[in-house]
Amino acid sequence: MDDAARKARHDRLCEADHRHLWHPFTQMQDWLREEPLIVDAGDGPYLVDTLGNRYLDGVSSLWCNVHGHRVPEVDEAIRAQLGRIAHSTLLGLASTASIECAEELARLVPRGLTRVFFSDAGATAVEIALKMAFQHHQLRGDTGRTEFVALRGGYHGDTIGAVSVGGIDLFHRIFAPLLFPVRHAPQPYCYRCPLGETLPSCRMACADEVEKLFAASPGKIAALVLEPVMQGADGMIAQPAGYVRRMREICDRHGALLVCDEVATGFGRTGTLFAVEQDGVVPDILTVAKGITGGYLPLAATVTTEAVFESFLGDHASKRTFFHGHTYAGNPLACAAATASMRLFRERRIVEGLPAKVAALRRALEPALAHPHVGEVRQRGLMVGIELVSDRASKAGYDDALRAGHQVILAARRRGAVLRPLGNVVVLMPPLSLTEAELAELAGIALASIDEVTARL
Ligand code: PMP
Repeated sequence: MDDAARKARHDRLCEADHRHLWHPFTQMQDWLREEPLIVDAGDGPYLVDTLGNRYLDGVSSLWCNVHGHRVPEVDEAIRAQLGRIAHSTLLGLASTASIECAEELARLVPRGLTRVFFSDAGATAVEIALKMAFQHHQLRGDTGRTEFVALRGGYHGDTIGAVSVGGIDLFHRIFAPLLFPVRHAPQPYCYRCPLGETLPSCRMACADEVEKLFAASPGKIAALVLEPVMQGADGMIAQPAGYVRRMREICDRHGALLVCDEVATGFGRTGTLFAVEQDGVVPDILTVAKGITGGYLPLAATVTTEAVFESFLGDHASKRTFFHGHTYAGNPLACAAATASMRLFRERRIVEGLPAKVAALRRALEPALAHPHVGEVRQRGLMVGIELVSDRASKAGYDDALRAGHQVILAARRRGAVLRPLGNVVVLMPPLSLTEAELAELAGIALASIDEVTARL
């Protein structure tokens, strides 16, 4: 295709996008004024747009593509599955692809998590976790456990149950009348501690606040739900080491289940295969999605223990069945992609190779630590949030109307990287497959873009 034909196709697609699409989490009035970057292809760590420009995929296409794009092994697994069947149901039937996928997943998750309930999005995996935890207690006769505890700043997806346990006011407040009540604990956000405390002298006072919520509702809490190690969507809020362990202990003391949502942190993102491993914790329920298929197809899983599973067993008349299911649960194409992607973790020894990459990214981000408009750089593995501030001493943020984060990602685009900010936090979530040189390049682009934008704000 010559340049003129390419441009004509691009213009036609822009016009059609503006006419028909409603983009998620997007103020469409702004969108309609801007020319969109239209992704046309992928190539390893790069996205390629309709004009032929190449960009490092700095956020793994919304935190999913852990091996990058067009991975030969995953491509081939999907082709092979297409040669057999694209879809069959798990309601009343089994399927080769879903069995193999569940087996592979059970091999990777922390020991003790053995039962895999498939669905198709992070939000559905969380809905399932909430209903599973609730019904588990009901079936055991512990019928007073009807409430949940979650963290401020938590994000678990956009369906109503997931929003109920979510804690991001900007997204969730308007829906308050639709939500079930959840007790929210203060956010473990050391840079802006809601309790005005400082580590280590506080001895994690925020964890004590969680325990107080349990103590105030004895026998009433079904589960504690949290994103372990790093709260993603609120701006990469990193928890102090040992926080997840404290959460496990609180749940154990109070007879509640611990639900760890690893939709964002799972599959190597934080430096270990699952974030909970860093605190040596095994949750009662683990939710995964995004990276499970290597970012190829929608698949999610809610993984639990035999103890939770067994509470649902009984004869047909007992009605102990878990009455929940999504049409595409365990879709064979998605499962084939996931199995291939998970096998790559073993075959390529991906987790073993992470420490050098994590260190390379940390080194490349070092200049940000002294930047007058960077408040904090939060990094766990290859999951990074760079919090921009207008004034470092007072920690004052940029006015929302300035759209500092958005301006930074537009500047990064001009330098050849695709990023997506969270408010005034610049996020880096690169594919785990990036080389150390590519990680340094990505960090360099982010820092140069921050320099450019903060100099003119
Ligand atoms: N949980 C967490 C921790 C997430 O980060 C997300 C998505 N960003 C979700 C759940 C929701 O996943 P999905 O968008 O696939 O519904």
